[in-house]
Amino acid sequence: MTEFDLIARYFTRKPRLAALGVGDDCALINPSPGMQLAISSDMLVEGRHFFSDVSPYSLGHKALAVNLSDLAACGATPVAFTLALALPGIDEAWLQEFSRGLWALADAHGCELIGGDTTQGPLTICITVFGEVPRGQALLRSGARVGDDIYVSGTLGDARLALDSRHGHIELPPDILARAMMRLEQPAPRVALGIALRGIATSAIDISDGLAGDLGHILKASAVGALVDADITINLIAACANIDWSGSQFDTKKQLKTVFSGGDDYELAFTAAPAARQAVMAASLSSQTPVTRIGVIESGPGLRLVDSHGLPIDGQFASFDHFAPSGR
Ligand code: ADP
Ligand code: MG
Repeated sequence: MTEFDLIARYFTRKPRLAALGVGDDCALINPSPGMQLAISSDMLVEGRHFFSDVSPYSLGHKALAVNLSDLAACGATPVAFTLALALPGIDEAWLQEFSRGLWALADAHGCELIGGDTTQGPLTICITVFGEVPRGQALLRSGARVGDDIYVSGTLGDARLALDSRHGHIELPPDILARAMMRLEQPAPRVALGIALRGIATSAIDISDGLAGDLGHILKASAVGALVDADITINLIAACANIDWSGSQFDTKKQLKTVFSGGDDYELAFTAAPAARQAVMAASLSSQTPVTRIGVIESGPGLRLVDSHGLPIDGQFASFDHFAPSGR
């Protein structure tokens, strides 16, 4: 099988919305009138972003999911994507499953594969997504204002629990572990919520490197600080709703670390004015995505954590950094 047979068999479909898809030197897309293109790339490297034994189906899903999550954070509607693949060799069973996972999520979001590049090399997947957002309505990191509420979608920390379990740091009951692994390997990008928050959220980001670090990006870009209720936030670990951790190794300190510097959550963190609370709840309902209010934007810089009584909690939470000495 040649490189071109491979592209034709696994990564070529007739374009629907794109003016020109796979097969020429460039793909062509016609942006809708009044819309801006939102563009983002994310790369996944074997051994760095995923275990070598992850199922190719999950990998195909996740490679696109992490990119769609960036569109979600901007409130953009997915349109198309390109796929740059380095493969150690041609393994048809692998390609079949990888492309199946990729197409399933692409179809669920009406996002077309319009081109890419294929080469031999250590397994690496780089996707670039293209989305559309009405001109001037993209949700940015820089729009948070003092007094805004801070929200996060869904649950947090479960992907980190799966990772910790995989590394032997925590033991989870099989059903909880299975759910946590799904969160790690097949995250659901919050595209519908992002779109529903256009004109409502003042800022947004997707949580890929941990809530503390990613919320930190909003704080920095908006030149504000935040007060966050750590107790409410800990309760967003889905496993905490099902397991009584009292007396176990998974104490409050570890729970804080899991929820604030877990990573791989692919939920949205966003801010909105208190006057928009009803609108936020309506966006949550219409997008069928739970959201929880976890704190408030303040003028003093940095992130302050308090417990449910408003008493300060210390905690320094590193966000994920590929170039930090320990990987953290
Ligand atoms: P070029 O030599 O002009 O860069 P290629 O020979 O690399 O083009 O690719 C041929 C066509 O196949 C192009 O349209 C390219 O976008 C597409 N393509 C290559 N690899 C992939 C892939 N992994 N997924 C989808 N399309 C691909
Ligand atoms: Mg060319």
